[in-house]
Amino acid sequence: MDAQEFRRLGYQLVDWIADYRENLERLPVMSQARPGEIRAAFPDHPPLHGGRMAQALAALERDVLPGITHWNHPSFFAYFPSNTSYASILGDLAASGLGAQGMSWQTSPAATEVEEVVMDWLRQMVGLSPAFTGVIHDTASTATFTALLCAREKVSGYAQNTEGLQSGEAPLVVYASDQGHSSIEKAALLAGFGRSFLRLIPTDENHALRLDRLQAAIDKDVEIGLRPCALVAAVGTTGTTALDPVAAMADLAEKHGMWLHVDAALAGTAMVLPECRWMWEGVERADSLVFNPHKWMGVGFDLSAYYVRDPQHLIRVMSTNPSYLRTAQDGQVSNFRDWHIQLGRRFRALKLWFYLVDVGVAGLQARLRRDLENAQWLKAQVDAAPDWERLAPVPLQTVCLRHVKPGLDEAALAAHNLELARRVNEGGKAYLTPSVLKGTQMLRVSIGAETTERRHVEALWEALRLAVR
Ligand code: PLP
Repeated sequence: MDAQEFRRLGYQLVDWIADYRENLERLPVMSQARPGEIRAAFPDHPPLHGGRMAQALAALERDVLPGITHWNHPSFFAYFPSNTSYASILGDLAASGLGAQGMSWQTSPAATEVEEVVMDWLRQMVGLSPAFTGVIHDTASTATFTALLCAREKVSGYAQNTEGLQSGEAPLVVYASDQGHSSIEKAALLAGFGRSFLRLIPTDENHALRLDRLQAAIDKDVEIGLRPCALVAAVGTTGTTALDPVAAMADLAEKHGMWLHVDAALAGTAMVLPECRWMWEGVERADSLVFNPHKWMGVGFDLSAYYVRDPQHLIRVMSTNPSYLRTAQDGQVSNFRDWHIQLGRRFRALKLWFYLVDVGVAGLQARLRRDLENAQWLKAQVDAAPDWERLAPVPLQTVCLRHVKPGLDEAALAAHNLELARRVNEGGKAYLTPSVLKGTQMLRVSIGAETTERRHVEALWEALRLAVR
């Protein structure tokens, strides 16, 4: 492909994306494809001769689109919002166009310095003090893994990593709530703590970590000679957006010399609203925190914001220094290759920058407030409907509910609600996630796609009630 053809096909593709976005509402939200159907449309072997891009663009519409679940559809209520704004699409395009690799400052100084600027903007937007420095990670899962590696190294005086983690006299323990995201457990296991040294602490009626149970678990571990190492606080759990008591957890972390990591993957975006900041009170005392602009905010996947209080510690844990990576500027600049696990890094900051200058803080705040109001509206409908039950508080944009049919036992109720989810999802008009909360089958409605208006939430509520009949 030459520049001329790139221009022609590029304009065509931008038009195609804009048409797709404008017509999203007419498509079934959840892909109706059956396993193997998309693959069957592709040849078994790669083309011997090239020059087939025009055909590929046609196949994108014909063969690929049916296999897409439309995360930016206004009636997408599943998992979590994953907004990819137009501005962020352009940022990704610019990043790919530049083809820059930002592993070191020298390999593209702008990739590092634009990232420093926008991560500082983001810090200010969520009300964090300048004590925190940010770096872009691909996902919250890798950020949490990094945090546990940093905790392990700090608490073990950098020793355990070479000697074999739990072979020391006082094995290290990680604590999180039983509602924490599965990435915490995965990170603890990958970081070598071992299942026997991961404590998933029970939660209260609001599904937030119980401090008394945390305190008791720590005391018991100390008594038998274990060493409390890391504490993960969830601000906005995946299931119900429950809020762990960060300030009190910070007290315990301080008392026992533990690393405090805050996982606010979804809820961090809400902190752009000053009225939501009480939800993570105490966050200033965390050692690290992560939230995902690639969820509710509007920056296309992937872009996680990882903030730390002590970048030097992060660098000490993550850096490698082979001769071929050394540059004349080492020591004067940030080399972000030393701030995470992988070496190479895309110029992700561009899409965050484009997004922020396009939406503005006030524009983003208005949309978030709209989503919070929509969630409160749905909450009020559920509370007022006799045969519907709400299973968790609604501090943010997620509403957890189920339909209760008199005379059905718990197993039958679970099957009934799963069937409701199937009917709504396969109907194509909306898409939500059936999920289990402490043994109870629920329907989880996560509001917050960029284009979701009140009428879409009303239509979902109507679709749910129709599914019962
Ligand atoms: N933490 C929480 C609270 C989440 O809800 C999620 C994703 O849903 C994650 C972590 C994982 O996010 P990522 O896909 O960026 O690893």
